[in-house]
Amino acid sequence: MKVLKFGGTSVGSPQRMKEVSKLITNGERNIVVLSAMSGTTNSLVEIADYFKKRNFETAHSLINKLRIKYEAHVKDLYSTEAAAQKTTELLDEVFVLLRSFANADFTPSVEKAILAQGEIMSTNMVTNYLEECGVKVRLVSALDYLRIDEDGEPYLSQITAYWEDFLAQNEDIEVFITQGFICRNDNNEIDNLQRGGSDYSACLIGAALKLDEIQIWTDIDGMHNNDPRVVDGTKPVRQLHFEEAAELAYFGAKILHPTCILPARFTGVPVRLLNTMEPEAPGTIINNEMRQGAIKAVAAKDNITAIKIVSSRMLLAKGYLRGIFETFERHNTSIDMVTTSEVGVSLSIDNDTHLHAIVEDLKESGTVIVDKDMCIICVVGDLRSQNVGFESRIASAMCDIPIRMISYGGSEHNISFLIHQDHKKAALQALSRELFSE
Ligand code: ASP
Ligand code: MG
Repeated sequence: MKVLKFGGTSVGSPQRMKEVSKLITNGERNIVVLSAMSGTTNSLVEIADYFKKRNFETAHSLINKLRIKYEAHVKDLYSTEAAAQKTTELLDEVFVLLRSFANADFTPSVEKAILAQGEIMSTNMVTNYLEECGVKVRLVSALDYLRIDEDGEPYLSQITAYWEDFLAQNEDIEVFITQGFICRNDNNEIDNLQRGGSDYSACLIGAALKLDEIQIWTDIDGMHNNDPRVVDGTKPVRQLHFEEAAELAYFGAKILHPTCILPARFTGVPVRLLNTMEPEAPGTIINNEMRQGAIKAVAAKDNITAIKIVSSRMLLAKGYLRGIFETFERHNTSIDMVTTSEVGVSLSIDNDTHLHAIVEDLKESGTVIVDKDMCIICVVGDLRSQNVGFESRIASAMCDIPIRMISYGGSEHNISFLIHQDHKKAALQALSRELFSE
């Protein structure tokens, strides 16, 4: 048994829903996780925002717009009156509920209840369509089995217990449809796994049930070995180790939510990235296999700020770095790259909300130099020290690029360079030429 997750664009129109339904009914008994139709969660965020600002007129007009859109989808999707009727009844309930929030106090839980409606609508629509096609299908509400604690951490064992029971009781069912993204919290209120969280839902189910595979279906053919917007001729990477995928996800390969592969990694369930537009393509498989000596991909992350603290007091001092790190912690800012010398330390951050306060505090420790508009370039692959020679290949590709920081040795899968954003394009192109051209 596998879990198949389809994102917003994959279910973004009635036509796409029909295509997805074909992929789902492949003769296997699978669990299918769906996002909201593309654009819907954004609309719901906007609606919630107008409710929050007590601008009910605009909220209601946006709700009406959404409703008209969904009514048109119903017409296009179903060929029988019964399926159309069943879906219309559900949509009516959703839109009555959305409007009713005008009478409620606006709380975070109201906002989350509003955001949840996109996935509730898309899963009902596809379930009713499959039913109309004669598929033995069951809609399973994520609100019944996916729960998070105060820190947003899911209770994996509850997923296992619920589904094991449910699968045993529904042996005749071929396809189980459920919502990505949405869940409940400890107060039993509707909550969510953060924007883009449907991948995470799928990985949690796959890990909790130790399924054969977690498939993430999107509209691109897997992870590419470089940024296709910047470099021509990039190729999909066929296989990645979980850690390589985690590095790439953080460094802007937006195809996969960074935290989502953790549960899969811990249980060893492979994750496969596939393309709905090209279902036959092999995509990218992410598993625990380490391919010897292979350099897999290059990625970049923009809008990085570099901070250098130089002080002769650092020489032979104890606890100097702790003081620096504590400053960032106090200002709720996480550090990405770190390099040190005897008389200085350089760090990078990707969120400069508290930069001013951080710099003021750091001035007590030394001379502070800030560089904005920087970019991290990372190379991912088998970069164990036994893989001799990769450093010189990478360094020779970067020979014309002014480099501000280099970080290697933090993991066996990554070497990172901090450069100015102006040089990003040249760096990515040179790395592709050196590392990936045949
Ligand atoms: N619908 C949600 C969002 O747009 C979750 C997801 O698509 O993964 O963020
Ligand atoms: Mg998504």
